[in-house]
Amino acid sequence: MDPHDHRPLLSEVTERALAYLDGLDRRPVFPPAGAIAGLAALGGPLPEHGSDPADVLAQLDRAGSPATVALAGGRYFGFVNGGVLPVALAANWLASAWGQNAALWVMSPAAAELERIALDWLAELFGLPRECAGAVVTGATMANFTGLAAARHTLLERESWDVERQGLFGAPPIEVVVGDEAHASLLKTLGMLGLGRDRVVRVPADGQGRLVAKDIPRLGPRTILCLQAGNVNTGAFDPFEEACGIAHEAGAWVHVDGAFGLWAAASATRSSLTAGLALADSWATDAHKTLNSGYDCGIAFVRQPSAVSAAMNVPAPYLLGSEHRQPMHFTPESSRRARGVELWAALKYLGRAGAAKMVERMCVNATRLADGLRRAGQNVLNEVVFNQVLVSFGDAERTRRIIETIQQDGTCWCGGTEWHGHSAMRISISSWATTHDDIDRSLGAILRAAAEA
Ligand SMILES: *Cc1c(COP(=O)(O)O)cnc(C)c1O
Repeated sequence: MDPHDHRPLLSEVTERALAYLDGLDRRPVFPPAGAIAGLAALGGPLPEHGSDPADVLAQLDRAGSPATVALAGGRYFGFVNGGVLPVALAANWLASAWGQNAALWVMSPAAAELERIALDWLAELFGLPRECAGAVVTGATMANFTGLAAARHTLLERESWDVERQGLFGAPPIEVVVGDEAHASLLKTLGMLGLGRDRVVRVPADGQGRLVAKDIPRLGPRTILCLQAGNVNTGAFDPFEEACGIAHEAGAWVHVDGAFGLWAAASATRSSLTAGLALADSWATDAHKTLNSGYDCGIAFVRQPSAVSAAMNVPAPYLLGSEHRQPMHFTPESSRRARGVELWAALKYLGRAGAAKMVERMCVNATRLADGLRRAGQNVLNEVVFNQVLVSFGDAERTRRIIETIQQDGTCWCGGTEWHGHSAMRISISSWATTHDDIDRSLGAILRAAAEA
């Protein structure tokens, strides 16, 4: 094969990818031990000489494909992991063929404009203020980082402290208030920003994991209050309207981590969960979870565009002035793949109605599974308001055994968690591909595992 000819390789990879996707429904959701052991064939010392590209691809498929997790199928319910819409996959292929760098408009007008359009559409879909600036990053961790960097800049600017130039040593202290159920990655970003994982003040959460607004301590103009749209265990939403009212009265900044839950705002039947969301100052979400745009894609929005560009823009002599939006003026990264392309494609394909329907289908599937578990006498621990289901099978040991059985059975994949003193199986319905049949097959497998235990 001519290594410089794209055509045979790309035809070959299309066939291999189709065979992979066609086989998803029949394979165990988590790869068997033998397949994982087979990855060793890809290792060994760095080869002295190269290989034929077709052989590279064949080996990758032979050893790699069987050791993948069937995230692209309809019965992966682990963590909160989305699948990939076919149109997003196809757009990702085209974007890969384009080989664009999405850092600057002049590097890729296509990437920059598609990203800008997708961000405008998303702000509209979420009902966020029209003036807000968006950033397309790798995931909600970096989206939280971006929103909180804008917050840090703004609160210190009020004290005539330029944090980007002067750093945090000697700066007036910033106080960070979080709900007791804040996601671990949010705390990680606070550490990266010099605000400290353990300096936070925690507000108690209720039985569903919602921050209790009346327990918010006294806030001030140097406080960042972090709220959450979608608790990773229960799917619960913080009371945005009330909490934003309290925070803004005190001049505090409100940041919302809505990695998967922000998408509730896209659905008329779920948007009551996000009432008051638009009152916040910055927001973080993922497209690779609920939107199923494929990995990796996260989005930050900041109400005041200058707050995020002040935190992220760094002048350099070769960066000439331009009337265009420069993606890297809003992101921690400079060079980036053009992930706005599949974001645009997913939104264009779904439209407002399609996005709402997809979100609602995930919620309906979660309710269907929870109802089936309850009918069979199992103990569902949470109010299933969105896409998350928590089920306990009695004591910790029995629950652990059932989770292990399910993971080995291969019909579906669910993880474990701890919820308010209970060990629980955690089920997240986050894929466009999940059908009623997938739910019923998975329910059957879970109940069989429970009966055996
Ligand atoms: C998944 C998740 C994150 C982290 O998102 P990544 O895309 O993995 O960086 C943050 N917060 C919440 C609530 C999440 O569910």
